[in-house]
Amino acid sequence: MGLTPGNFDYIRVSSFREAAKTLSEEENSKILAGGQSLIPLLKTRIMSVDLLIDISGIKGAGGIRQEKNSLEIGATYRVGELEANSLVAESFPILHDAALSIADPLVRNMGTVGGNLAHADPGNDLPPVMVAMDAGFTVLGSKGERVERASTFFKGAFSTQMDHSDTLASVRINRGDGNVSSAFVKQRKSAGDFSLASVAAMVELDDSGSFKNSRTVLGSVFSAPMILEGVDAFLKGKRANSETIKGAASLVKSQINPGSDFFASADYRKHVSSLLVNNALTTAVRRAGVDIA
Ligand SMILES: Cc1cc2nc3c(=O)[nH]c(=O)nc-3n(C[C@H](O)[C@H](O)[C@H](O)COP(=O)(O)OP(=O)(O)OC[C@H]3O[C@@H](n4cnc5c(N)ncnc54)[C@H](O)[C@@H]3O)c2cc1C
Repeated sequence: MGLTPGNFDYIRVSSFREAAKTLSEEENSKILAGGQSLIPLLKTRIMSVDLLIDISGIKGAGGIRQEKNSLEIGATYRVGELEANSLVAESFPILHDAALSIADPLVRNMGTVGGNLAHADPGNDLPPVMVAMDAGFTVLGSKGERVERASTFFKGAFSTQMDHSDTLASVRINRGDGNVSSAFVKQRKSAGDFSLASVAAMVELDDSGSFKNSRTVLGSVFSAPMILEGVDAFLKGKRANSETIKGAASLVKSQINPGSDFFASADYRKHVSSLLVNNALTTAVRRAGVDIA
């Protein structure tokens, strides 16, 4: 098998509007961002395109803007830049955890936040994080601009609410004024590899140190991120301590029904998911200032 892609044309666009127009004019076209998922697919000829539309030159699309409790990330902001951003690490530690856990520095320095989300690989780490943080995605298409919620954006493996002429332009996260913190943890298939399972958790504690609100999201076990509603319902109103978290984590096995494959049995996936819920919630609660074992 050769490792060269088939022939294609290439265009570098200067706006999302131009990207949408070009996408709708050429049926077999694709956006090119960091190329870390797309180029291997083209090289192995799993996929072929007639036109690649490079969005990396769109002015402002690779920026990041942080206000007190909110963050706006341009689609072409690199995962490596996210990892290195100390302000993000302080206010949105879940993003730092996830960025740091992605592949290796080579992939992180090229791969973009928008590409990681738009590709919607079930093994990708940013989708569950965005669901946990209730992110909003600004999408530009031939019919104009709209905002999609992360919780409904991911439809299944490599499938999102975007259609062919849509481009993901930016991501917005608002963490509110309360005592909110977050964490992301994952179990890799092997060293440096994609996730076998991951958990993204956002917690908000009240003044008495109890769970006021939480969103616990399982990644990579199913074809799209899954909000563990039973876990969050269990946590609500309870003291944020290790006993409560253990109780919540113990519910996971009865609430998910994963399959078995070459990488892991269903039982192992359930076991790991439960441990990851425990670890993500414990880290998030510690970061919210509660000293738990
Ligand atoms: C060896 C290796 C290991 C990896 N390990 C991990 C890992 O552990 N965790 C993880 O999360 N990821 C991992 N990845 C994937 C990596 O994070 C990719 O960078 C990411 O999935 C795609 O981002 P990209 O910018 O490279 O997008 P590209 O490869 O350029 O594009 C990917 C797809 O998304 C579309 N696209 C890109 N940007 C947009 C946009 N703004 N709007 C609409 N469509 C868009 C493209 O058309 C294409 O279909 C790994 C990749 C490699 C090569």
